Amino acid sequence: MFQRNADGSPVLKQIEINTISASFGGLASRTPAVHRHVLNVLSKTKEAAKILSNNPSKGLAQGITKAWELYGSANALVLLIAQEKERNIFDQRAIENELLAQNIHVIRRRFEDVSEKGSLDQDRRLFMDGQEVAVVYFRDGYMPSQYSVQNWEARLLLERSCAIKCPDIATQLAGTKKVQQELSRMGVLEMLLPGQPETVARLRATFAGLYSLDMGEEGDQAITEALAAPSQFVLKPQREGGGNNLYGEEMVQALEHLKDSEERASYILMEKIEPEPFGNCLLRPGSPVRVVQCISELGIFGVYVRQGKTLVMNKHVGHLLRTKAIEHADGGVAAGVAVLDNPYPVA
Ligand code: ADP
Ligand code: MG
Repeated sequence: MFQRNADGSPVLKQIEINTISASFGGLASRTPAVHRHVLNVLSKTKEAAKILSNNPSKGLAQGITKAWELYGSANALVLLIAQEKERNIFDQRAIENELLAQNIHVIRRRFEDVSEKGSLDQDRRLFMDGQEVAVVYFRDGYMPSQYSVQNWEARLLLERSCAIKCPDIATQLAGTKKVQQELSRMGVLEMLLPGQPETVARLRATFAGLYSLDMGEEGDQAITEALAAPSQFVLKPQREGGGNNLYGEEMVQALEHLKDSEERASYILMEKIEPEPFGNCLLRPGSPVRVVQCISELGIFGVYVRQGKTLVMNKHVGHLLRTKAIEHADGGVAAGVAVLDNPYPVA
């Protein structure tokens, strides 16, 4: 999100990093054409030409293709782990279609299907319905409620296999809010990026305040500060998918309830970012089209492929702009709050 520094200069502040099931790469590849079309209908051809091209689905598919090539078996498939009731299937299909264009076939299965029909051979090669799997791409498995005992077993089977996982369990955990908070501690970036003080400084400039709530003095102080100025903080559990963070009075109540219990360590506290609102129309079914005060959130899609300790691919492949009315503190597109948008460069 964009925020203003004390001196008025704009700065991009990081909300979080997602390392599993990052969505809307497919749909974000289609929205530039929608906005260009709308502007062209209004005869605003110059403005239409300014809408940035964007094709994250192609870039995400390139990452999966690279992993598939590294696996090295011409007949092996990509296994997309899908939810039982998937509302976002068209987003996923865009990536599947890019893979199919490379002659890489994708099968969609649920965790339950894996536990019933998945198996490993003696070399830990993964087979699903008798077909060898090169890459497992998770679009499920990022919330505790998605893991029954049976689903945990399926995840363990996938994890133990020599198929390439997008992501493996370590990479998924690296995306947790707790890790994000620990990365912001003084000295941690310096340790991970030795001899690169400029990179460290540029990265740190994007961090908002992040505070551990572990038992002890540091956590006690963070709680005292949040209770003294609730509007400046967000309380975050280790959850994904939107709608889990606590703000304002709800945050105060939760902190009062948690402060003497070890349970508080399963949350982190974050400084609330205050982006500047602007007027925009949110087009959604059943709502009148009118200008309301909005804020936007920019996402960057990254592809990272690693083989053992060798980095094979690490690049950005597109962006996602989501815009929502200012009255919603939390919640993204899937939660029905934000809409897909496009940046409009003015300089
Ligand atoms: P999730 O992983 O569940 O999506 P996030 O940390 O991304 O959780 O938060 C969800 C939404 O809440 C974000 O998209 C953003 O709109 C809002 N949000 C999260 N953290 C902050 C913050 N520190 N300041 C302002 N808004 C925030
Ligand atoms: Mg997230």
